[in-house]
Formats: sequence, structure tokens, C-alpha cells
Amino acid sequence: MALEDLYQEIILDHYRKPRHPGRLAGADVEVRHYNPVCGDQLTVGVKLDGDKIAGIAVEGVGCSISQAAASVMTEQVIGHTVPEALEASEAFRRLMHGEGEGEPDEEVLGDGVAFAGVAKYPVRIKCALLGWMALKDAAARALAGQGGGETVYDEDEGS
Ligand code: ZN
Repeated sequence: MALEDLYQEIILDHYRKPRHPGRLAGADVEVRHYNPVCGDQLTVGVKLDGDKIAGIAVEGVGCSISQAAASVMTEQVIGHTVPEALEASEAFRRLMHGEGEGEPDEEVLGDGVAFAGVAKYPVRIKCALLGWMALKDAAARALAGQGGGETVYDEDEGS
């Protein structure tokens, strides 16, 4: 199987079977992020234990890239600290902007490596990053003891 086909399979698998779907009971914070360019919508709930992400769930509608990337995100951050999650977020952002040097770090990115090809399609990068943007927002709000919120990305934001 060619690498691109394998990556496609991984993305479709996350799209069909999101890993932490739905609303999180007892979430500290819930945020809703919307990508008007594509119509992707995600509600991300986060529960922290100290600075560790003890629980996360995503309820969303939208394209396969946005929903699959959000599913991968939940897998990569649950059980990790917020700083570790932000590091993974930054690694994924670099992957999307083709800034990585050499091979992407699979330990940090997990199935996120399957999205490497998305970097070639600028309009889809926002789709892939939506879940990570929502996570960063939710984690920051949870750490600050703030409530949830709603964010709509315009043309210049979110990338
Ligand atoms: Zn999309």
C-alpha cells in the first residue's frame, strides 16, 4: 500500500470512528469553534486535573479533514499535561505549514502524521487546525478558570 493510501485510510478511519465523540459530562470548559470557509464546526469539552487533561470530547460536523484531525487531537492530548498538548499542537501547526525539518515526529503527532499531505492544500489547512485551535482555547480558559466561549475564524486567523 502506498504511503498516501495508508494516510488516507487513517484519516477516513478517524472520520468514521472519532475517538472521543460527543459532549463531555462534567467538562470544566466547552468551546465552540467554527471555520466559515468550509463550514466546519467543533464543540470541544475539556476537563483538567491540575494541569493534566483528564478528559476531552469533541462534537462536530464538517469535512473529513476537520473531524478526523480533531479526533487525532483528542488521542494525542488526553492524559497529557497542557504544556505537552501545546507542544503537540505546535508540532502539528508546523507540519501543516511545511516547516518541519526531516521526518515528522510520530511520537508527538501520532496519527497526525497522516495529515502531512494537507499542507499542499492551503484552504484545507484551517480545517486540519480547527480542533487544535479549539483545544488551545479550551485549555487556556480552563487554566484561567474562565468559562467557555465561541470563536469564528475569519480569513486571517486560525492558521
Ligand atoms: Zn473543512
